[in-house]
Amino acid sequence: MIDFSLSPEQEVLRDLARDFAQKEIVPLAPQLEREQLHSEEVVEKCYRLGLLHYGVPKEYGGGGLGSLEGCLLAEELAAACAGVEVGLYGNILGLLPLLIAGSPELKHELLPRHCSGSNVAALCLTEAEAGSDVRSIRTRVRRVADQYIIEGTKRFITNGGVASLYSVFAQEQRELGYKGISAFIVPRDTPGLSFGKREDKMGQRSTDTREVIFEEVRIPSRFRLGEGHDGFNIAMKTLDASRPVVGAQAVGIARAAFEAAVAYVKQQVPSDGAGVASQGIHFMLADMAIKVEAARLVCWHAAWLGDHGHRNTKESAIAKCFASDIAVEVTTDAVQVLGWPGYMKDRPVERYMRDAKAHQIFEGTNQIQRLVIARQLVR
Ligand SMILES: Cc1cc2nc3c(=O)[nH]c(=O)nc-3n(C[C@H](O)[C@H](O)[C@H](O)COP(=O)(O)OP(=O)(O)OC[C@H]3O[C@@H](n4cnc5c(N)ncnc54)[C@H](O)[C@@H]3O)c2cc1C
Repeated sequence: MIDFSLSPEQEVLRDLARDFAQKEIVPLAPQLEREQLHSEEVVEKCYRLGLLHYGVPKEYGGGGLGSLEGCLLAEELAAACAGVEVGLYGNILGLLPLLIAGSPELKHELLPRHCSGSNVAALCLTEAEAGSDVRSIRTRVRRVADQYIIEGTKRFITNGGVASLYSVFAQEQRELGYKGISAFIVPRDTPGLSFGKREDKMGQRSTDTREVIFEEVRIPSRFRLGEGHDGFNIAMKTLDASRPVVGAQAVGIARAAFEAAVAYVKQQVPSDGAGVASQGIHFMLADMAIKVEAARLVCWHAAWLGDHGHRNTKESAIAKCFASDIAVEVTTDAVQVLGWPGYMKDRPVERYMRDAKAHQIFEGTNQIQRLVIARQLVR
């Protein structure tokens, strides 16, 4: 039985997110993006509406919602401002390793406090020499008595300078390669934790993206996630869970660009099939509609599989890869449909085009998604 309709609760959630995004984020987005500002105010409002910790189970103080609801939220918020949404979702992304592999005791210790305010988390995986190849991370961890000591530097970390909790992946036994990686939670106030300068990005400029530096950072041994050196598996499960939502963010960016293009064409004075009234432009709009609809469905499908306990490695990679590829195409075409007004900074269309590009890079580049999909096909 296949049912494509949203439940009444999901419709309420989507409408709440759309209303909030259009009223509270859209007016702020140009300034936040221009001046590279992380808005505590938006995070706080999002928290008060119950949209910040939506994916944390209720028993730990969150909203208890699934990945499909995450897709609904992500599309609406990213359609308003991808930079803001990537920071907001960075919270759930940073908490996923704890949700996936943390002991119930550790979750009870850390999550209720985190979820009782407008706190955000961050996922610390990437390093200067370890992006696509997670196995080559150099951040080291060693156990001394009942503590772990972490040393290293993570790069391009979303919410890097503003998070309260950091999930961190480090090499515990280098000779074991990726099987020697372990995962940990590091609270912000831990001595030895510091931050590099904020990255000056092409798009998504309102997200706080920066280096996170660990110098003799000591954490209690109970802050380790999983059993043994389980870090690589935890990272892969985290990405399987997050890619449908990241894909839905790309759908949101693409939808905003598509809607701007349609609105522009409709407001032009009708002419006799020339300019934006030409069939060539109308066909572009039709292609944009096809891509947005198709991308939304693959994201929802991958999310649905995860929510129902099915392995979704291939489908999540397809969702993130397809949605971000079409987002780059649709946003580029939206600029083309408008012509010079689309290229100017006084409209958001050029921003959508810049914002879409990051989605082909993070959460694993789209070349890596194709490797993941191909491995699943031929294994
Ligand atoms: C805006 C932004 C936010 C980010 N947020 C976070 C975050 O919160 N946490 C975090 O840990 N990281 C984050 N990242 C880092 C991101 O995940 C990495 O940029 C990504 O994994 C790619 O790594 P890289 O940039 O080092 O590229 P590289 O791995 O150096 O790749 C360079 C090029 O080579 C290609 N390539 C590499 N290996 C292969 C291969 N085997 N086959 C084919 N092609 C290959 C890649 O596709 C790419 O085109 C963020 C990045 C950006 C841009």
